[in-house]
Amino acid sequence: MKLALEAKHLWRTDPLYKDFYYERGLVWADINRSEFSKNVIANYEGFGVKGSDEKCELVTPDAIRDLNHGLFSGADLGDLTEVLLNESSGWVEARETLQKVIDAAVSTGVVKYIETDISSLILDEDRSVCTGARSVDGQVFISDSVILATGAETARLLVKSSPETPELHVGSRMSAAGLITGVVKLGQKDAEQFRSGPAFLLAGGEGQGGMIPPNAENELKITCDLSFTNTIEICNGNRISTPPSDPLSNYSAFAAEMNHALATVSEHMLGDQGQAFEYEDCRICWDAITPDQNFIICQHPRCKHLFMATGGSFHSWKFFPILGKYVVQMLEGQLDQSLAQRWAWDRDSITSTTNERMMPVREMRDLKRNRSST
Ligand SMILES: Cc1cc2nc3c(=O)[nH]c(=O)nc-3n(C[C@H](O)[C@H](O)[C@H](O)COP(=O)(O)OP(=O)(O)OC[C@H]3O[C@@H](n4cnc5c(N)ncnc54)[C@H](O)[C@@H]3O)c2cc1C
Repeated sequence: MKLALEAKHLWRTDPLYKDFYYERGLVWADINRSEFSKNVIANYEGFGVKGSDEKCELVTPDAIRDLNHGLFSGADLGDLTEVLLNESSGWVEARETLQKVIDAAVSTGVVKYIETDISSLILDEDRSVCTGARSVDGQVFISDSVILATGAETARLLVKSSPETPELHVGSRMSAAGLITGVVKLGQKDAEQFRSGPAFLLAGGEGQGGMIPPNAENELKITCDLSFTNTIEICNGNRISTPPSDPLSNYSAFAAEMNHALATVSEHMLGDQGQAFEYEDCRICWDAITPDQNFIICQHPRCKHLFMATGGSFHSWKFFPILGKYVVQMLEGQLDQSLAQRWAWDRDSITSTTNERMMPVREMRDLKRNRSST
């Protein structure tokens, strides 16, 4: 929560971020009836911010159905008696923010931005020092420090860089996990109504998923929040979860399953209106989920000059404005001890996950089996 508040302050105020941040609120319907909503409110109270900049409360399902002239009147809220409404939540335009930050970094003159696919790290003979990286098009980058911020691809890259060195690999420290997302192109009137309303999240049930209000192109984004791994064998017996190497064919192979999953979510959120949605741009988006859902921001303990900055639980993007600061602190050995322990490669103990519902419970190939059995 402390880090989220630090990041939110920058989303609200910093010229790099504020033009892409829309504080329209969030409805969090805890179908699982966990303690999550109450914990969120208690955290706000604990930090002494509830009621000032942060407006967050439990309201009745009818209050949710009445929001924005009945935007969510068709929502299936089961037999919930209270729903979390966080008026001080926001959503952001990720692509535009990222581009602005890249442009700002390059304009300083000290950052060079190159787009290329890295095929492997360059390691010394005994695989304990990293001196750079090689790209698929044959470029060689030599560096004093290499920071892997490669998300769901991290496991594959480390195995490919040195298949016979398990101590370098991620092991069970993180898993590539996928979620199905799709976009609905709304007419102008519907888009304006949704744009003025909050993001909406169903936590639990077969309609578990989220909806982000439409962007300037009137594209409403829906995600099915039932995650899955894609466990395969690569490089002589190394088993990892990793995004498929040919994502486009996978989107078409799973087109029916993806549409079904998204239709289920939107029907639970919006009733008949959601059932009638036609999805475009369906895809599977991947993240590197860690067992305790904390980041991995650390030096690789078995490889000099190699650093990691990735991992999380489908919730790392919101920290974008502040992550660089903590990565620099890590590089300079200045990271607060408790954060260093929490984000380490080898952690003392795995505490329970904050958001159990996001953990993968099936394999990507099971999407087809589940669909054919319904
Ligand atoms: C469907 C979905 C919904 C989400 N919703 C939210 C949300 O509402 N709020 C939130 O805060 N977070 C959300 N997230 C999570 C968030 O997007 C991730 O946690 C975050 O982007 C992870 O950051 P990362 O830097 O670890 O990895 P990424 O953002 O995946 O970045 C990794 C980068 O490395 C590049 N890369 C990988 N391998 C190579 C290689 N070999 N060579 C060159 N480049 C490479 C990739 O192209 C990519 O640009 C969501 C994620 C998904 C999938």
